[in-house]
Amino acid sequence: MTDNASTDRCYCGCRTVTGYGRAFAPGHDKVAEAAYLAVHHNGSVAELLRSKGYGPDKPVIDAAVKAGAWEKCDHCDYKGAPGSIRNHMAKVRKAENSQREALERSVRALGGTWDPSRGMQTLRDAGYSPSEKYVRAVYRRLAEDGLLEKVDDNRAIYFVTEK
Ligand SMILES: [Zn+2]
Ligand SMILES: [Zn+2]
Repeated sequence: MTDNASTDRCYCGCRTVTGYGRAFAPGHDKVAEAAYLAVHHNGSVAELLRSKGYGPDKPVIDAAVKAGAWEKCDHCDYKGAPGSIRNHMAKVRKAENSQREALERSVRALGGTWDPSRGMQTLRDAGYSPSEKYVRAVYRRLAEDGLLEKVDDNRAIYFVTEK
């Protein structure tokens, strides 16, 4: 959060001279926030949220996403500020890459026929918790790469091509 204050002294009242364009000395925004909550909402964030109509049935996080200030992950229910979403997505991609590599290694090493449940079991044994949709997507990709070939056009069952 950036503050665009016109003063060069800390807004908490400590009289520290702050850098240009800064409302607070480092960390003092939290002090002022706590004091504000104490004065207006009995020190309770829940009470602050209730005063604006937010609560378990009307989550403020959803309101932040709706307002366009926060974002929702494309893959799961995670919601956060744009910076948090970027970190989250980087982790998701990394986990997906390592899962895909683990599955590809097993397919190459073991050969034979692969249906979604075999892929899911293989990944579960390796400590992941993949969805069937994810395993099917990996198979499609390995088929595009020529490692797998579909047994039946209508079902997600593949065999490993001899190379
Ligand atoms: Zn201060
Ligand atoms: Zn996510």
